[in-house]
Amino acid sequence: MARMDLGEGQRGWHVLILDAPPGDVNLRDPRDSVTLGGVHTPPRPDPDIRRRFQQRLLGWYRRHRRDLPWRRTDDPYHILVSEIMLQQTQVERVVPKYREFLRRYPTLTRLARARPAAVRRTWSPLGYNIRPVHLQGIAREALARYGGRLPDDGAALRAMRGIGRYTAGAILSFAFGRDAAIVDTNVRRVLGRIFLGPRRLRRLRGDRALWQLSEALLPRGRAYDWNQALMDFGATWCTPRAPRCPRCTMRAFCASYPLDGARNGRGHGIA
Ligand code: SF4
Repeated sequence: MARMDLGEGQRGWHVLILDAPPGDVNLRDPRDSVTLGGVHTPPRPDPDIRRRFQQRLLGWYRRHRRDLPWRRTDDPYHILVSEIMLQQTQVERVVPKYREFLRRYPTLTRLARARPAAVRRTWSPLGYNIRPVHLQGIAREALARYGGRLPDDGAALRAMRGIGRYTAGAILSFAFGRDAAIVDTNVRRVLGRIFLGPRRLRRLRGDRALWQLSEALLPRGRAYDWNQALMDFGATWCTPRAPRCPRCTMRAFCASYPLDGARNGRGHGIA
């Protein structure tokens, strides 16, 4: 099954996801026309839109970035703790628990050697209690196999239970300064709105195209700021139900501008 088509629209670059047999995808609209021929073709944003998006997002981030405790460290263990806590949990709830948890278990080794019941009690009441189990499992594996350090390697990180593609990308970019892309709920919404638009986003199946987009847009050597900026922009500006379209720095090329919700004040949002 072929699932991807590329094209450039009036407001920049778009991705169209199709269900069609390999080799015969050939859309009629010349702007959208491409033959996949069974060959996987990664998305390539228009270079000018890509450059403008990068400049504007990083500029927005300089003005609006959130001051969060895990942004004051490059300790891979501390960043791991923050990323596991942030899964399914709001930032406001995570901040105090992050500090408490690291007071109790300041190093990966201390966590690895703690009693599991004590770790679970410290974790409470964040919920999703498989997370502290995974976290301590990662600490123990790192102690046993990597000398008490998290590996600086995506495949090794993802081999650990509890670390998926997003968390591996976050650790690589935030702790090790590597050019690793991320896609979480916020990034999915931001990239989907700007580069796909509502109609195409509704037809999107899976995250493959968004991962390719995220990787294609990443400015080399700036992954830390870039990934934080994407998440902040999604969390505080291009939000699910109240995107701030009228004053948005992306509106000149955003495929979703203006979202109906932003225009009429009801803010239904997409994604
Ligand atoms: S114009 Fe609206 S939908 Fe587009 S990025 Fe800005 S806030 Fe999001």
